[in-house]
Amino acid sequence: MTPVADKLNAQDWDALSMQLYSKTAKDVEQALMRPKRTLEDFMALVSPAAEPYVAQMSALADQLTRQRFGYTMGLFVPLYLSNLCANECTYCGFSMSNRIKRTTLTLDQIKQEAAAIKAMGFNQLLLVTGEHETKVGMHYFCEVVTYLKTQFDYVMMEVQPLSTCDYETLHQAGVNAVLVYQETYQRRAYARYHLRGNKQDFDWRLQTPDRLGQAKMDKIGVAALLGLNDWRTDSVMTALHVQLLQQHYWRSRYVIGFPRLRPCEGSENSTTSGQFISSRQLVQLICAHRLLHPYVELSLSTRESQAFRDHASAFGITSMSAGSSTQPGGYSNTTKALAQFDTNDTRSPDEVAQALVAKGIAPVWSDWLQGFRS
Ligand code: SF4
Repeated sequence: MTPVADKLNAQDWDALSMQLYSKTAKDVEQALMRPKRTLEDFMALVSPAAEPYVAQMSALADQLTRQRFGYTMGLFVPLYLSNLCANECTYCGFSMSNRIKRTTLTLDQIKQEAAAIKAMGFNQLLLVTGEHETKVGMHYFCEVVTYLKTQFDYVMMEVQPLSTCDYETLHQAGVNAVLVYQETYQRRAYARYHLRGNKQDFDWRLQTPDRLGQAKMDKIGVAALLGLNDWRTDSVMTALHVQLLQQHYWRSRYVIGFPRLRPCEGSENSTTSGQFISSRQLVQLICAHRLLHPYVELSLSTRESQAFRDHASAFGITSMSAGSSTQPGGYSNTTKALAQFDTNDTRSPDEVAQALVAKGIAPVWSDWLQGFRS
């Protein structure tokens, strides 16, 4: 049973796209005035007609963010465990046909990584792998999570889509959140970018948040990869996805990511191809999500520049990674593996924290303690 994916599948991409591109300044002004906004309002707010209203949107988004989250910013760090991947995605450095040095961290290497990360001050960790079911699967995940939960209170994962039963097992092992990005919600564009491997199965991926909700995962993350396809229509689908998930799986919390394409080894795609989203449009998009979902966590990675991240911390973003290495073994320098993509904000976690404090925002290294887990 996948009620949310079924409803998303019933959407007509072209009709949604036409609907949002026909929004006018009047629609935007009405959306801005409403105390509670609908998906129709969201369409107006991400439409080209809203571009002259970004300053107004940003002021309203800031108010809503402070009401719900105060002056805080959750900080986490990604731990890349493996760059093995059995998929071919045309935009990613880990794609199976790329001739790069592949590695999967051993438990001893993970212990070294964990020590280096703890020394940076983090208590919230995002585990990331390529997608290789046979070599980096449940046995490995359970072993790694069991160890890391002795070191970190909050553990998130961004790995291949798994079954409901596997998510229940990981939840029991202590995983707090799982992020799975749809990349694009348009089936025919999805097929163009995913050429080989299990990731070609659009439906299995789209149904993943349903399975996470059924496994009662504490937090579920969704996003579209911005730059692959028309970012406005993909964002409307993302917003609808979150709304439907909230209705069906109300026990879970939600986080929306804003990954923009970055250059990587062997990729034909870069930030200049596909459907480019400018920094100003990304501000518009973050604000539109905040105005539709006042309670949802909005997250930004080090794909974005120092200047953009500092700016975004002031109006809507409520969690961000810092000091990231996208190379397995990159914190303790235990391997020479290739990074997934180049990060843009290369500041240390301390420097990121200081920049937040300078803006009056308190960095939160840990907002969840093991003892509170039900
Ligand atoms: S995007 Fe994910 S699945 Fe695709 S090649 Fe990269 S690591 Fe593998």
